[in-house]
This record gives sequence, C-alpha cells and structure tokens, in this order.
Amino acid sequence: MGITLHGIGIGGGVAIGHAHVISHNEIEIAHYNIAEDDVPQEVARFDAAIRLARQELETLWGSIPENAPAELGAFLSLHIMLLNDHALNSEPHLIIETQQCNAEWALKQQLDILLAQFDEIEEEYLRERRADVIQVTDRIFKALAGHHVPPPPPLRPDTILVAHDLSPADMVLFKDTDYAAFVTDVGGPTSHTAILARSLDLPAVLALRHAQALIREEELLIVDGVNGVVIVDPDERVLVEYRARQREWQASQRALQDIRDARPITRDGTEIELFANIELPGDTEQALANGANGVGLFRSEFLFLRDEDDLPTEDEQFEAYKQVAEAMHGQPVIIRTIDLGKDKIPKWQEESDAPNPALGLTGIRLCMAETQLFRTQLRALLRASAYGKIKLLVPMLTHVNEVRQTRRHLEEIKDQLRGEGIAFDDGIELGGMIEVPAAALAVASFLKQLDFISIGTNDLIQYTLAVDRNDDSVSYLYDPLHPAVAQLLHHVIRTADALGKPVSMCGEMAGDPQLTLLLLALGLRRFSMLPAQLLKVKRRILDADLTQLRGALSGLLAAEDADAVRALLAEIAVLKPAAA
Ligand code: PEP
Ligand code: MG
Repeated sequence: MGITLHGIGIGGGVAIGHAHVISHNEIEIAHYNIAEDDVPQEVARFDAAIRLARQELETLWGSIPENAPAELGAFLSLHIMLLNDHALNSEPHLIIETQQCNAEWALKQQLDILLAQFDEIEEEYLRERRADVIQVTDRIFKALAGHHVPPPPPLRPDTILVAHDLSPADMVLFKDTDYAAFVTDVGGPTSHTAILARSLDLPAVLALRHAQALIREEELLIVDGVNGVVIVDPDERVLVEYRARQREWQASQRALQDIRDARPITRDGTEIELFANIELPGDTEQALANGANGVGLFRSEFLFLRDEDDLPTEDEQFEAYKQVAEAMHGQPVIIRTIDLGKDKIPKWQEESDAPNPALGLTGIRLCMAETQLFRTQLRALLRASAYGKIKLLVPMLTHVNEVRQTRRHLEEIKDQLRGEGIAFDDGIELGGMIEVPAAALAVASFLKQLDFISIGTNDLIQYTLAVDRNDDSVSYLYDPLHPAVAQLLHHVIRTADALGKPVSMCGEMAGDPQLTLLLLALGLRRFSMLPAQLLKVKRRILDADLTQLRGALSGLLAAEDADAVRALLAEIAVLKPAAA
C-alpha cells in the first residue's frame, strides 16, 4: 500500500518513475562513469583535492596556538600522515583508471577497503584510528566537491530525483541531465529552485518535508506537479488512473503546439507581447521554439553560478551576451545586470553572514559595492550590444540614485570604448526592475530616469507581504492575489502608461495562466515568462476579452481579500471559458 505526500506542485504534468534518492553524502559520493579520454583529467582532479586537503591541514597545523594541548598537534600530524599514505593518495588512481569511474567513487571504494581492514584489527588503539581515516577522507570528499562535481546522470530514463534540497547552482547543473521529475523536502513556490524546475518543464513537487527520509532508492513514484502530490509505491488502480492523467496532460501539451505561430491577440483585437525569461544562453532555443517575441529577462547572474572558482571574464561574458543577441535575430534581449546575493551565491563568493540576506547586499546594491564586478559586466554588455537589440535591466532598485549611478558608470564605459574604437549601441536602453515596494510606490520618479520598467513580482510579493519566498513554512501566506499586490501592480502599470514608458512583468505571476486575466485586467500588455509557460499563457490571451476585463477591474481592486479576488476571477473565467 502506497503513501501520499503533499507539497508545492511546480511545472505541471505527471511523471511516473523510479526514485533516485540523493543524500548530502551521496552528492559528494556520486557514482558515474567517465570516458576513457577523461581519465587523466579525473586523476588530476583527485590529486588537486589531495593537495587542497593537505594545504588545509598544514594551515591548521601552522595556526595551532602555543598553549594548545599537545594532542591537537599529534592529531593533525596523524591526519597529514594518513593523507600522505599511498593507500589514500595513490590507490584511488588505479581505481579511476581500471573502472573508469569518478574520483569520489574511487575514493569511496578505497575507503571501504581500508575500513574493512581496520575492522579486522584486534588492537584497540589501532582500531580507533578508523575514525581518523574517515575524517581524512571526508576532507578529501569536501575538497573534491569544490572541484567540479557534476550531478550524477540519471540511471534510467524514468528516474525521479529525490533530494532534501537543491540550490540554484545545483539546478544549473541539472539543466544538462535528463531526469523525468524531481521532488525535494524544502523550497518555496517562487524560489529559484522552483523557477529552474519550471524552466526545465518537468513535473516537480517541493516542500514535501520528509520525502528524502521516506522514499527508498528505486521505489516507484508518481509525481503530480499539478496538484503537488507524490504517491510512493502506488497500487495498480492508482497507477492506471495516473497513466490516464499523464496521457491527458501530454495531449493538452501537444494541442498547445497548434497556437505556436498564432499572434497573441485578444478576442477583441489587442496584441499582447510575450517574451521569454532565460537563465543561460542556450535557453534561447526553447524561447524561439515557443514563439517568444524576444527575451524579457536574461538572469545574467546564472553565468556567475557556474561550477568554477573564478568569475567569468569580460570576454566570456561578452561571448554569452552576444550569443543571446544573435540567436534572437534582432528581437529585443533584456539582460538583467548581476543579481547575486540572497539564495544565489556563486562558488567564489563567501556565504553571506548578513543577518537577513534578502534585505542585505543584493542586486544593484552588491554591484554598487563591487564596482569592478559591475563595470566589467557593463563593458561586456555594451560590446555585445553591437550584435543585436540588447537592453539593460537593473535589479532591486530602491533609490533613484542607484539609476543615476548606473548611468554614470555606463557613460564612463562608453567613453572608454569610444577611445578604444570598439563598437556598441550608443542608444542602449536602461530599464529597472520594480520589485521593492518602495520603488513600486515611487515608480514615477524611477520612470523619469529609466527607459522602461519590468515588474519582478517574485520579490515584490515577498517584500510586500513580508514572506520569505524560499521558506515553505510560510508559503501559504505567499499569495499573489493579495489585494495589496493587485493595488501596487495597478499603480505601477497605470503610472507607466501615463508617462508613456513601456512596462512589462517578468516575475512568475506573468507565466501563470491562472493569473493572465487578472494581469490583463490590470492593464498589463507585455509579459515575460519561462519558455515552457508561453503557450499556456498565449492560450488564455487568445480567449480573453479586454472589454469584459476592463468592466471587472473596479471589482477586482475593491476585493477585500485574496479569496474574493479568486472568486471574481473564477466568475470571469466561467463567463468566457478558456480552453486550457
Ligand atoms: C522577480 O523578483 O520577480 C524576478 C523576476 O527576479 P528573480 O526571481 O530572479 O529574483
Ligand atoms: Mg527578483
């Protein structure tokens, strides 16, 4: 008899497959095979980890205070001795070579051999050294984790990944793998983990609390991303039911392809612009395949979340931005400047010890503090602007002065480029994200300094409702239909319209087909979303009637709570039933 777990459904769809449970240890001790040609590189990776572990121990040894107990020195020298032992630092080479496996797996096997030998030892002192061997190997595993650990490839096509948590950086790595679905114990509906899940267009359920502990390796799972349900070890009757739902879902996805080339025009003739949100340059393929009118948000910071210790150079960034600009063939490409901090921490950046990172040095604030980082990016962006229609977008604006300072940097870099005879688009537009309530309320002042704005509802909701978007314990309070959100959005859109400046929305709200009618009623005409959502939202637009929606606006704005807004939206949808 199966068990049913409830969480937050992401990505829609249903997957049926077998669990691959990764624990924290297993991420470090992943097992996968490597190509023969990659063996020397893997051996070198292992050696680099040994060197790093040794360096750490030597640094520790060098910093032992004079009055420290003598055992501390003895303990560290024992660990250095173990690390220098052939059994730990050379035997794994042979395993990598003969089994063509990853370094972690080779080390794990060698550790198992050594521990078995220790278990045979009668003498107590020596047997106790077993714990030291484990501690030293742990240090090597950690050092290996700092040196490119790709996620294990799925064991078979229907593999469902079960993890306690996946960071945005883990998710970037998962973009290259081929899982059928994934489920995690934690995560909020607009956390970057959830956003990446949607961008992979996979069914996923987050915030299951105990999935990793309850689900066993290889167990059969049903993942229902629509209802946020995971069924473990389902019986035949349930399986039959879900197979039918899966087929239905697949058919509805196929049906959406019919409107791929249709222009997004409402029933009463207003054309809406639909743009794509992307994280990496390669995502433009999916954007184009789903008929995007351009890129409305390139989260450039994902270039900085790669699994390397260094920042991308100016040239590497230039190539990435140029690639996107060229791939979109002259359609607009809005590139957001680095939005690191909060949950997006690259390898080279220390975990923040700020008391509240979401209110700390993040987005444009970090760029203002790290001007070299910012200016290098602006140079790369300006250089790439010669190859397409690039526009810049600044995240986390709170003070108008942040726009003025950005403009100053931009003008200085333009002067530099002119001096060097490097081509760029002199008229490059500068936009700002409206995602802090202060910027939403004072949007008129921002609009005077900016060429366009884009509303980041993911953060705007988090800051307006004081609900951490990553914290599933309060996700029930994270409600985009809260009247305060609708009122802020209405104010921002109306002010931008009055001042004749383009306004778009790039938060997850824009890609939620359940909310399309509300946003149209509020006056939104430019939407940017993950490519996987484009056709679902287009379907709603094709069925929408703006005259009817305009009539419903005052009622929506006067609603006293989210349930009232929801009821009104349901009424509108019933009056003009949407097909998807
Ligand atoms: C937002 O906050 O709505 C947004 C689009 O930015 P991000 O989700 O990357 O914070
Ligand atoms: Mg944001």
